[in-house]
Amino acid sequence: HEPTAKEIRFLAQMANIKHKILVLSGKGGVGKSTVAVNLAISLAMEGRRVGLLDVDIHGPSIPTMMGLKGSHTEFANDCIIPPEVAGIKVISVDFFLENTDDALIWRGPMKQGAIQQFLEDVEWGELDFLIIDCPPGTGDEPLSVRQILKGDTRAVVVTTPQEVAAADVRKSINFCEKLDLPVIGVIENMSGFACPHCGTITNIFKQGGGETLAAKAKVPFLGRIPIDPLVAECSDAGVPMVHKYPESAMAKAFASIIQPL
Ligand code: ADP
Repeated sequence: HEPTAKEIRFLAQMANIKHKILVLSGKGGVGKSTVAVNLAISLAMEGRRVGLLDVDIHGPSIPTMMGLKGSHTEFANDCIIPPEVAGIKVISVDFFLENTDDALIWRGPMKQGAIQQFLEDVEWGELDFLIIDCPPGTGDEPLSVRQILKGDTRAVVVTTPQEVAAADVRKSINFCEKLDLPVIGVIENMSGFACPHCGTITNIFKQGGGETLAAKAKVPFLGRIPIDPLVAECSDAGVPMVHKYPESAMAKAFASIIQPL
């Protein structure tokens, strides 16, 4: 069929975004959103143009982490204008809710509609990277993003060093394979404890789960991010760790992880 004006606008908008990267995890609490935010910041600090899209419709945490809790979007020329923090354009379902504590009871098609709008109607402009934070697991949201974006989208998978998390993440990798979504690699978060005084990394949990898993699944291992108690403080303050502490072990880990992206 003849493409509609809307479809043409969408294709043009997506062509202006060079890299679209989904951030996935097998389960919650492994630091997926923390990784998504700090990946975005690290890329922006290298001078890349970055957008951050939070499609975690039931538990959006990006607004808090980016200091945007309670923010709303503006509208201009039929487009949604995303707020910007540290040069990063940010969109979350949170910005469209009257009361951010409202629990969202949305079925698949409604989620798909919201995600479609975030990709179509938001004025992303020209970007080098659009980082998309998905809810944990292999549900409607990453599936919708995949269906809407079709071709040139890739994924990173976040895990922790423990084997249990690794078993869950295997499912995420299978999901990507089924959807023909190339996996850039696995990131092992909470991998060792970075001493805030001397910077030495102590391995609290068994190390290497992410790397073993990546090897078994034949996908690259992108690197380890240490546990740092300052992450929680930064998250509460709404200033991402890598932005506030660019000299930290965590910032250095991210600087190396973004290289192959
Ligand atoms: P997910 O998105 O996987 O549910 P979050 O990014 O919300 O996980 O992180 C879960 C919790 O763990 C948050 O309180 C966050 O501050 C903390 N956290 C994540 N990564 C680290 C880290 N490397 N060091 C210390 N705390 C972390």
